[in-house]
Amino acid sequence: MSRIAVFPGSFDPLTIGHEDIARRALELFDELIIGIGSNSDKSYLHAAEERKSMIENVFADEKRIRVLIYNGLTINFCKHVGAQYILRGLRTSADFEFERGIAQMNKALAEDIDTIFMMSRPMYSHIASSIVRDIHKNKGDVSKFLPKGITL
Ligand code: ADP
Repeated sequence: MSRIAVFPGSFDPLTIGHEDIARRALELFDELIIGIGSNSDKSYLHAAEERKSMIENVFADEKRIRVLIYNGLTINFCKHVGAQYILRGLRTSADFEFERGIAQMNKALAEDIDTIFMMSRPMYSHIASSIVRDIHKNKGDVSKFLPKGITL
């Protein structure tokens, strides 16, 4: 059975930190689905369709990565695409505390799905989409935090 993971997130925008986690995860999984969660309560810099096409460009060289948009619970999306794993990146202990609750709730809801955490590389652990958006809003140059193909 092939090992399929969903990497869920807002990816608003996808940063070099996200890209690194996704590429490293290909050592562990046969297929990685980048799941762009669409939360109607949040306002985004780019529409989900726009994020999807930019992220597809970043991973155009990698056939084992697919990009899909989903609504609702991540575990239901995992079942829909046949994924047994949820992939999340960890930068700090604050990430860990937040992720722990979600991962354990997901486990309680879906016994057959496991969350796998990958530590950020130290050189990327300060990079967060929210800070990138803030710098951009204040006219700062954020290009060094973004993969080629992602523009704001
Ligand atoms: P969300 O809106 O669900 O927090 P994000 O798009 O901000 O989604 O992040 C998606 C995932 O990528 C999360 O697991 C987050 O911890 C991880 N992540 C974000 N930035 C980095 C980074 N610089 N290095 C490693 N993982 C990261």
